[in-house]
Amino acid sequence: MGKFYVTTPIYYVNDAPHIGHAYTSVVGDAVTRWHRLLDDDVFFLTGTDEHGLKQKQAADDLGISPQELADRFSVRFREAADLLDIQYDDFIRTTEPRHYKAVQTFMQKIYDNGDIEKGTYEGLYCVACEAYYTEDELVDGCCPIHTGRPVELMREENYFFKLSRYEDRLLEYYDQHPEAVRPQTRLNEVLGFIRGGLQDFSMSRSAFDWGVPLPWDPSHVAWVWFDALPNYITAVGYGEDDERFDYWWPVDYHLVGKDILRFHAVYWPAMLMAAGLDPPKGVFAHGWLLVSGEKMSKTKANKITAAELVDDFGVDAVRYEFLRDITFGQDGDFSWEGMLARYNADLANNLGNLLSRVATVVGKKCEGAGPAPQDGSPLQTIAADVYAATADAWERVAPHEALEATWRLIRETNAYLETNEPWKADPGPVVDAVMGDALEALRIVSVLAWPALPKTTTEIWRRIGLSGSPADQRLPDAAAWGGYPGGLSVEKGQPLFPRKQAD
Ligand SMILES: [Zn+2]
Repeated sequence: MGKFYVTTPIYYVNDAPHIGHAYTSVVGDAVTRWHRLLDDDVFFLTGTDEHGLKQKQAADDLGISPQELADRFSVRFREAADLLDIQYDDFIRTTEPRHYKAVQTFMQKIYDNGDIEKGTYEGLYCVACEAYYTEDELVDGCCPIHTGRPVELMREENYFFKLSRYEDRLLEYYDQHPEAVRPQTRLNEVLGFIRGGLQDFSMSRSAFDWGVPLPWDPSHVAWVWFDALPNYITAVGYGEDDERFDYWWPVDYHLVGKDILRFHAVYWPAMLMAAGLDPPKGVFAHGWLLVSGEKMSKTKANKITAAELVDDFGVDAVRYEFLRDITFGQDGDFSWEGMLARYNADLANNLGNLLSRVATVVGKKCEGAGPAPQDGSPLQTIAADVYAATADAWERVAPHEALEATWRLIRETNAYLETNEPWKADPGPVVDAVMGDALEALRIVSVLAWPALPKTTTEIWRRIGLSGSPADQRLPDAAAWGGYPGGLSVEKGQPLFPRKQAD
């Protein structure tokens, strides 16, 4: 039994949850569910980022306190997670007392170690990013992340984190741990940024007070990223429970969008080193979830909510689409039409149809009692190959490959039924053998696909007469051929995924 600690970014509450957030959360949830099946000790963290100038301004606009705004919006992110069956172990909010305490301990440690100093800074600042950019990073004089948004010249007397002192140590770290940034192409980007020269950055703000006060100078609050990033250590007991912290840290994966890779793969490891802590074992950056070719944004009409998709397709189908149709790490183009095609092909025609025909034949030819599988079935070696490929892909955080591998067993089982045509044969041992094999394949698929389709696989489990649920199963044993005992009552029920038409 290993341990597996994964985080999503904490989501900015100055925004409504959209499918970009849902996407990262679903991947984190599925990957951690896989590790739960492996009997690993799993900790999956998500939450909300609630401080900063943007928050303060948004609250002022609404005439409410920033805390009230944070309370309102944080709930929406929690609901969005619950809607998609995100099984998080902790939902952290940066306005919680435990987080203030951890951030202050963390900052004090770095200050005492001499890597936070007072200074003056002047630079080009994007309020939306709450970050400075250099001239050459700008695109047509505007923020490289927020297309078309002008940057402002800011001058501040602040505390600075001495990032420039960490160039060599970061390069050395990535030289020894090239797997710490994934995909590989992103590592090159990170190394390029470090080699281009690191500048000290301002880690405090004094113009407003919506943040965590610096313990040695409470007239300043921590800059948003200096407050946000430590959420990953707060949640596992930093400064509060050393034993717990030492157990979980360093994190296995921070899952992040590529726009915040620099903060996670350059600033954050340096901050950790400055506090005497280990850098993350892995930062996995994914691409944009494009909607019909365009990046989603607050101001564009292409902002889809997960709730709308769930209304149309159901929770599991939305999860499946995110995991199966997009190569994790790259940009993915999402469209309603693409989702419809995937839904009909993989869920209605393959998985749904398999259960339906198995239950029908067992009802007609086996008196409704599912027979046991045969030892030496042609599906047995396929199931073993499928398990190996599925496990390998989940281990690499490649959900699209994992599901592609699992679906091979569904397709092969459908083909096996078409070859043997048990619906045309008379009841007897031949039909029983074929149906037992198909039921066993369904049992294995229910376990392997549980990380993606928790509700559906639990329902299949129940309909083929098994007790408990796929969630209680442990790999690799649960994937071994021969687990379906036979003699169980099989229920047909309504179609799992009724075919849908474009309308
Ligand atoms: Zn920006």
